[in-house]
This record gives sequence, structure tokens and C-alpha cells, in this order.
Amino acid sequence: MKFKLSFLLLILIAASFTACNSGNQEQTAARPNILFIMADDHASQAISAYGGPLAELAPTPNIDRIADAGMLFNRCFVTNSICGPSRATIFTGKYSHKNGFIDNTMGSEFDFSQNSFPKELQKAGYKTAVIGKLHLGGTPTGFDYFDILPGQGSYYNPTFINPEGQYQMEGYTTEIITDKTINWLKSVKDSTQPFMVMMWHKAPHRNWDPGPNELGMYENTTFPEPETLFDGYETRDAASRNFMSIDKAMSIDRDLKMTDQPRAGLNEEQLEKWNAVYDTIYEEFKKTNPTGEDLVRFKFQRYMRDYLACIAAVDKSVGKVLDYLKETGMDKNTIVVYSSDQGFYLGEHGWFDKRWMYRESLNTPLLISWPGFIKAGSVNNDMVSNLDFGETLIDIAGGAIPADMQGRSMLPILKGETPDDWRTAHYYHYYEHPSEHNVMRHYGITTDKYKLIHFYYDIDEWELYDLEKDPQEMKNVYNNPAYNDVKAELHLQLEQLRTQYQDNDSLNQHFIDEYNAKVKENPRIEYWKMRP
Ligand code: CA
Repeated sequence: MKFKLSFLLLILIAASFTACNSGNQEQTAARPNILFIMADDHASQAISAYGGPLAELAPTPNIDRIADAGMLFNRCFVTNSICGPSRATIFTGKYSHKNGFIDNTMGSEFDFSQNSFPKELQKAGYKTAVIGKLHLGGTPTGFDYFDILPGQGSYYNPTFINPEGQYQMEGYTTEIITDKTINWLKSVKDSTQPFMVMMWHKAPHRNWDPGPNELGMYENTTFPEPETLFDGYETRDAASRNFMSIDKAMSIDRDLKMTDQPRAGLNEEQLEKWNAVYDTIYEEFKKTNPTGEDLVRFKFQRYMRDYLACIAAVDKSVGKVLDYLKETGMDKNTIVVYSSDQGFYLGEHGWFDKRWMYRESLNTPLLISWPGFIKAGSVNNDMVSNLDFGETLIDIAGGAIPADMQGRSMLPILKGETPDDWRTAHYYHYYEHPSEHNVMRHYGITTDKYKLIHFYYDIDEWELYDLEKDPQEMKNVYNNPAYNDVKAELHLQLEQLRTQYQDNDSLNQHFIDEYNAKVKENPRIEYWKMRP
């Protein structure tokens, strides 16, 4: 009797162990953790895995590790190239006109009562956290934990908001966000529940303040000027009205630190390091006093040196987190996504910033690694979008993609099996105007070969680019009769996409009315309107 009982017990224990074990294995194989890293305004031209003239001069070896281990996307297009709206699109899997967060104008706030991919991940059993810059206003929903910067946040000694309230920390924000992420990873290291943590950096957003460990690192490097640094905007009326150039809109004091004003917001030690770099440069600047094109060239070099030094800190952050995953063995079952909320101009067309549907700001970097699933070192040229991020992560988590999300899961692409009916054209729509950089409202379509853009509101201009012949988008051929057939076909496709995504002219008017009401009280509106 005694033997029988023990035997039965043994069988029971063995059976439950096997069940439990196979359950875990299944879970391990099917439900990876997700580390979603995003930078703010990180151009793919400034990621060495993408190659290009900056790859040798300002490499990003740690971000490149994600490409080496996984997949690099050459054509990831955003739906609306500006911070808040891009993030809202990622959250909802919807275009701006559907999620309501169309611009970054003061007072813009994301409606967190909406459904979002983090909420769907929670439903699928994931633990979710966001650390760093969210830039959506309001109190985030869909997260088991949040520790975020208010609004833009600051580069040094930042304020954070977590569920307990607001508090300040001393140090460099990129490093603080990294340490916070690692601390959070420590808290879930031994948990069996899968997680999704977003490490969203503030850097390298304007005004490009390098950290104490990167200050001055590129002072002996001269960066190559892009061919289009002195673009005259011939054939492009909307572009000619811009206020986004390094020449006119980049400030020598606030942006480039050439000022007599003492730098505020730094502690004594930080200030000492800061002044040790900028004092010398400023003295030299006053002596040489460059003007005209020389001044633009000086500004371009200063911009690159600061911007790329900010990115060097982001790259170290990525390395530190990847190292932690490796040390703990968590790397084996963790997907790593690296992206930016949009691309950025590094002097192309004479510009910094984003907004336009042209190449540099339409494209955003995207690198994804997933051990045992994505083939290491693969490169993808399919047309993917930040519209697809949420859907993809829900799919990976084994959740159900809501029918009203407008993007598509990239899971088959990650397997190297692009569906035959994957998109071959992308729809874009930018709204924030009149505003700081005088970039007109516009929408358009891009295919492999062509791009058609309509600028509207206080302008009514169409642009057409032959991307094969003119990859830098310097020559608008809309009025060239040789393109009449192409033009007709693109107009048709554009209308099809607008119908598909449920965007239209009356919505445009609705958002114009809403915007005008919102900025009416803004004292800067008259200043913006005075622009050419
Ligand atoms: Ca941004």
C-alpha cells in the first residue's frame, strides 16, 4: 500500500513536471521578450550599418550589432514625419487622421483612452514598461510600469514622471534612461511572464547637447558636406519657402552653443567639462567671424559634431543593454527592435529637422534581431512602415491584431517570406502648418520608382519625382509632358490609398479648422505667417 502510494505520487510529480516543462518550452519558443529601443530624430545616415559617408567617421558599432544579428530594413517609411504623431501611429497602428494626434503644436495630447499595441500586449499576457521619452502628453495607459520624461525632457539632470509623481535626477539623460532600463530588466529577469520594454531615448533631438563622456569627441573630425547643402530649390515652390535651413533657421547660440550666455542647468562638474570644449571653439569663432557660405559650413560642422556625439552616447546605451541581456542569457529569447520616430536631414537640401515627404525624413531606420528566427545579417528592401510596428509586435506576442489597425504584421517578412500582396506604394500626410519651419501641409504617394506630392492650404502645388533618375529629389517633373502617363497612374493610385485609409479633403479642412482655432492664441503665429 505504502509502495503504491509513493509510486502514484512519483508518477504524478513526473507528469506535472513534464507538463510544466513542455509548457515552458512552448512559451519560450513562441513568446519572446521584446526590447523596443527608439531614438528621437536619429537619421539612418548616422547609423554605420546603413553605410554612407559617415559610417567610417562616426560609427555606431553597438547599434550595428542588432543588424549583424538580425535584419536591416532599407525602406521603412513613416506616415507623418514628426515626433508625437509618429509615436501615436506606432501606438495605434493608425494614420494621424484616425488617431487624432496630427501635429506637435502646443496643447497636442494623445488620447490615451484609445486602444494601442501595449494594451494588446497586456491582453496577450505580456508585462509592459516604457522608460524615457514618450512625447505624447497625458498619463500613459497600457503599461505595467512607466518612468518617462515630461514633454521633450532635458539632456542634463532631467525630471522624470513615474506612477508616484515627478522627481529630478542628476546626470546625463541618455545614461539615466539606460540604467533605468537595466534596472527594470533586473526586476523581470527571473519572471516567467514575457515582457515588452520600451527604452525610448530623448537623444539626438535638437538642441543636440552631448554628454559629459562624449563632449568634444569629434572636434578633430571634418564631416563631408552633402552635395545638396546649398540647394537653391529650383522647380520646388514649397521647398523654396522653407524655414528649416542650417543657414536661416539653425541658431548660432541656442543650437550651436556659440554664446556669451553661461550655460544653465548643469552642475559644477558638468559645466566645467562643457566650458572646456565650447569656450575655445567660441573664442575661435569670434576671431574668424565667418559669413555667408563659410558660416553655413561652420554651422554644418558644429551641427554634425554635436549631433553625432549625442548618437555616440545612444550607441553606448544600446551596447550596455545588449551586454546585460547577454550576461543574463536573456538575449536568447529577446527580440531587439531599434528605430527612430522619423529620419532627419543632416544638411541635405541645406536642412536639419524632418517633416517633408522627401527621402531623408520619410525614411526611418529599422533594425530587428530575433535569435533563432531572423536570419543574421539579412537586409530587407520591402516597403514597411511605422504603421506596421504595433501590428507586428502584437502578432509576435500571439495576440489578436484589432481589425481597425491600418498597418500589417511584418512577421512573415521577418521569416524571410514576404507575402506576394505586400504593399508596393506608401501613403504619407503631414499637417503642422503654419508653424516653426514653414513646411506646407502635404500628402502623397511613393512607389519604387516615383513620388507624387500635393502641397495644400496656402499653396496648391504638385510635385513628381523620378526616384531612379533623381534619387536626391532635386527636380520636380510634374509639368514635364514625358511623365503624363506616369502622373495619371500615380494620381489614381493615390486616390485608391486615400480611400483605403479613409483620408479625404473634407478631413483636411476639418483639421485646418481645428488647427487654426488652436493656434489662434499663439503669439508666434504672426511671426510664422511673415515667413516667405
Ligand atoms: Ca522626432
